[in-house]
Amino acid sequence: MTSEQINDATAYAEGSLFDDADDVRGYFTVANMAAMFEPGDPGLALTEAQLASMADEVIENRWHMAKGADCPRCEGTVSQQTWTSGGRTIHGGMECEACDWTETDGRPCDKCGVYVPADEYTGADRPDGTTEYLCPDCPTDYPGGE
Ligand SMILES: [Zn+2]
Ligand SMILES: [Zn+2]
Repeated sequence: MTSEQINDATAYAEGSLFDDADDVRGYFTVANMAAMFEPGDPGLALTEAQLASMADEVIENRWHMAKGADCPRCEGTVSQQTWTSGGRTIHGGMECEACDWTETDGRPCDKCGVYVPADEYTGADRPDGTTEYLCPDCPTDYPGGE
């Protein structure tokens, strides 16, 4: 799900930022949805399992969380850029406050961990449909790769 879809169902991004993962999990519960919403709102139709998987996604992506994840390029932290438009909170990409890294700039090599800019990575498609993200020094594990 996207952060917009989760927000449409649970309005999680309308309130204050979550402090940590426990804070997120506490929000995504049937009891909390029942306390927040009026009958007929989509949040009331969600099961505990659906809410838990939304919470996992929010935590993994650091959506609407006060403390960001570690920057892949420097010692700084990355957090999600947000802004408001027409009264709605819009969620943009992850960005580092220290070095201006954004999530489209690249990430560490899957094998050796060296930082690789997005226009320099190599790697083949895996059988499961994902793509290797490798630095130019690490060979691909799959035939047909670069
Ligand atoms: Zn950084
Ligand atoms: Zn590498």
